[in-house]
Amino acid sequence: MTPVIALVGRPNVGKSTLFNCLTRTRDALVADWPGLTRDRKYGEGKLGEQPYIVVDTGGVSGYEEGLDSEMAEQSYAAIQEADFVIFLVDARDGVTASDHSLANHLRQAGKPMQLVVNKVDGLNEDTVLNDFYELGLGDPFPLAASHNRGVTSLITDVLDGF
Ligand code: GDP
Ligand code: MG
Repeated sequence: MTPVIALVGRPNVGKSTLFNCLTRTRDALVADWPGLTRDRKYGEGKLGEQPYIVVDTGGVSGYEEGLDSEMAEQSYAAIQEADFVIFLVDARDGVTASDHSLANHLRQAGKPMQLVVNKVDGLNEDTVLNDFYELGLGDPFPLAASHNRGVTSLITDVLDGF
């Protein structure tokens, strides 16, 4: 099985940076994967022998105010078609209203997921992670995508379930 992993979260939390870390081939041939739409950005990756598909969301500019309705729709659709969801939040911003809103949606969706706190570089990991327990989505996973720190460990954990 080739799991489809969706990256969701507010603009600027580092989704596209993580997407680039996780994919060698960009723009996977969507036509080869029944059920995937063309509205989002797909990439293919492989960990050892295990292939996976990554879906980037929120790539359209102009959503700086947060999770507006169009972006929310896109994120919800990506969540629906995914086998696993990586929910990215920003260590520097702390928990925001948009984070809560997406967290509520994810709880209702009931998909396998992992809360990931990105941009932990230069911060005290334990202190920062503590803030995010209030989202009620379990243990947050620390990441510094732009430093490629935690990426292999994250994808290894995710694929372990498939
Ligand atoms: P997206 O809007 O969620 O796709 O976020 P991007 O991947 O475009 O990243 C937004 C900004 O955050 C960019 O300037 C990245 O370089 C920066 N960024 C991404 N990951 C990290 C990280 O781990 N640490 C730091 N300090 N900055 C990061
Ligand atoms: Mg992006």
